[in-house]
Amino acid sequence: MRLYNTYTNTIEEFKPIKDNIVTIYYCGPTVYNYIHIGNARPIIFFDTLKKYFEHKGYKVIMASNFTDINEKILNQSKIEGISEMEVAEKYIKAYMDDVRFLNADDSFIKPRVTETIQEIIDFIKELVNAGSAYESDGDVYYRVSSLPEYGKLSNRKIDELIQGARVEVRDEKESGLDFALWKKFDEGITYSSPWSIGRPGWHTECCVMIHKLFHGMIDIHGGGADLIFPHHENEIAQNESVYHNRIANYWVHNARVNFGKEKMSKSIGNVIWVKDLKCDPRAYRLLLLKSSYRNIVSYTDELQNSANQEFDKINTAFQKLFLYLDVNNLFDENISTEESKSFMKRFDDANEDDMNTPNGITVINDIIKEINLELRASKNNERLVSLYNILKEMLYIYGLDSHLERMDNDTRNIYNSWLEARKNKDFNLADELRNKLIDLGIKL
Ligand SMILES: [Zn+2]
Repeated sequence: MRLYNTYTNTIEEFKPIKDNIVTIYYCGPTVYNYIHIGNARPIIFFDTLKKYFEHKGYKVIMASNFTDINEKILNQSKIEGISEMEVAEKYIKAYMDDVRFLNADDSFIKPRVTETIQEIIDFIKELVNAGSAYESDGDVYYRVSSLPEYGKLSNRKIDELIQGARVEVRDEKESGLDFALWKKFDEGITYSSPWSIGRPGWHTECCVMIHKLFHGMIDIHGGGADLIFPHHENEIAQNESVYHNRIANYWVHNARVNFGKEKMSKSIGNVIWVKDLKCDPRAYRLLLLKSSYRNIVSYTDELQNSANQEFDKINTAFQKLFLYLDVNNLFDENISTEESKSFMKRFDDANEDDMNTPNGITVINDIIKEINLELRASKNNERLVSLYNILKEMLYIYGLDSHLERMDNDTRNIYNSWLEARKNKDFNLADELRNKLIDLGIKL
């Protein structure tokens, strides 16, 4: 498996820290609003990556956090007239609904800031003791000048950064580049600390949560590319100062989704909430997976319509095949032909190549072509079962799968009677049986 590592700017061979186990953490949302379809990209990408690793036999431990205390949440609580905790609960629930709606596995570990406060305070104490942070009027700041290699992840030079940040230097900070680890705060939910009553800064929570959950370095730290600077740079800096490592061996970032040519942004208002997606959410997944995760996707109606049609074609062929295997009782997971092994190899090769999902989708479409031809032609059962087995696995990995139920015996009898009636050209009976089957939810 080869993955692009933002930290080294190269595509590298992936080697997990522990054999057969992959640990992944990606930055989750600040829960004060619904998420838009651009925010859905890391959910979809890391879900796909996780399922691919599992397909290769790895055990994957994945975590993604909730920032459930933040000034944006406090502001939203005033707008909605409910408490901060109620705001957080409401949007955590909405987020998890969206995760499931997007056909992503919801079983990842979900640490929250409010459940990690003591560990955050202890971590900041260590930073202060190490001389990497200082207190100033109740606030605590990270001293960027304490880490000469600051800027490595985002390819920024510390001198240039300091110059750029000079404009915003305020008296309480030694340098404009220093960032807050703890802020004195006297509104809403607050916590006591050795420095003041206040709240933790955003950049600290992820390092602390990762350390708490994984007790050391992890394999992959991910998130949207907009988090590379300053958030991830600052995570690495703090971790280097206390644990002398860069948190993760591989820093993996997905590109953003634009609305047409413009950047999608809640403040401009050109966003589509995930919950308001008009299409099948799996068709949106397909739209994203048709681009490399490192390329910006410019979302348009035309692009979505074309993804809808493509998804429909895939889904219809899969359902038809399922129906055929179901009626004829042909399911057998052990059947595997040379042809399907070679399709699977092409699919694996695509994903091994820095998750080249566009090529993976091409393989899926090639299989769909073969299935449609075979269903219309001689119906070689061994071939169809084998193609079904690999297609099912691929659709699951990409989150394009359907949960299909096998029909019960009564339905199967009606189905066979319908086939018989058609064969005998008894069209009235055939129509009647057909309607019955449609009422029973069978896609014909
Ligand atoms: Zn983070």
